[in-house]
Amino acid sequence: MADNKGIAIIGEITEGKLSPVTAEIIGAGRSIADSLGDEVICVLLGDQIGDNAKTAISYGSDKVYTIEDAVLKDYQTEPYVAAVEQVVKELAPRVLLMGQTAIGRDLAPRLSFKLGVPVAMDCLDLKINDDKALEMTRSVYGGNARAIFTSGEYPQMATVRQKAFAPLAADDSRKGDIVSFKANIDPAAIKVKVIDTVKEEVEGIKLEDAEVIVAGGRGIGSAEGFKQLEDLAKQLKGAVGASRPPCDNGWIPDTQQVGLTGKIVAPDLYIAVAISGASQHLSGCSGCKNIIAINKDAEANIFKNARFGVVGDWKQVVPALTEKIKELTN
Ligand code: FAD
Repeated sequence: MADNKGIAIIGEITEGKLSPVTAEIIGAGRSIADSLGDEVICVLLGDQIGDNAKTAISYGSDKVYTIEDAVLKDYQTEPYVAAVEQVVKELAPRVLLMGQTAIGRDLAPRLSFKLGVPVAMDCLDLKINDDKALEMTRSVYGGNARAIFTSGEYPQMATVRQKAFAPLAADDSRKGDIVSFKANIDPAAIKVKVIDTVKEEVEGIKLEDAEVIVAGGRGIGSAEGFKQLEDLAKQLKGAVGASRPPCDNGWIPDTQQVGLTGKIVAPDLYIAVAISGASQHLSGCSGCKNIIAINKDAEANIFKNARFGVVGDWKQVVPALTEKIKELTN
């Protein structure tokens, strides 16, 4: 490992802008780099990087490697893997990080194989231990436990869950180097092509971006019940989420499902209404800063994970809570 240096971050550009998760990982990379006396290098790929390299510096990168190529316009497995493999081999970083996003989930395992190093996926925390190795914490057993991994192979590689880290405040006065990197991409090797991209239509605040989520479970019982949760969410300027059964029953769209096979969210406040707290649900919301559980069963597992809890029928608790919040905020 002796020669591996730097904390490399594979950044993402979404709709022309540096994605929030990239800023978050740069922040995480910054604190790792500072504790090692090392530097943060962000790699950006696309057909037009524009000002995003400067933005990456403002969030804490010391260097930005840009790889601009028309074939990198949309994410496609083969050219991205080829380009990232080449730049990583050139940089030989000590740590390699990327987001646990649609891109990171596809790219990281392939890169891990190509580089011959392990990868810890979906990490919730990253720390440098006394031996100066990276400790990568991720949830295991469907969210029932957390395990800390470390690897003797370099780069030590991880994908990081969105919202697991807060970004640093952007500082436009930060200075850094921007290096243009030319990757050798063989167009003949591209077997999969993006034909169309369909944008998910969301009314109101997106679940992943919401600072407050009111989530309902099977105990809500109907689509009408979810309307009451919408009222509460509206008062709190939040979004409505759900466990799997309400989505399976068509009470709320599948896009609002939180959990192992749904979305991973980390709002400041998560109000879990009539949700029992199955591990598959908790694995999507265990990063929430505060969970308030409302459940008529005092023994429900959700209470073990909640900061505050109300034992009661949601049909009485939710309208009363909504009224009180209205009273306090208006
Ligand atoms: P239940 O477990 O049935 O709980 C309903 C709760 O409502 C109970 O605690 C009850 O006390 C309470 N309740 C009922 N009536 C009232 C009332 N009037 N007032 C107050 N409380 C009331 N689940 C997910 O959520 N997300 C996933 O992504 C997901 N992925 C899965 C993947 C796999 C491979 C598998 C096997 C399962 C997955 N599941 C997922 C399903 C998961 O195992 C649970 O079945 C599900 O989370 C339970 O949802 P629930 O808590 O809403 O329902």
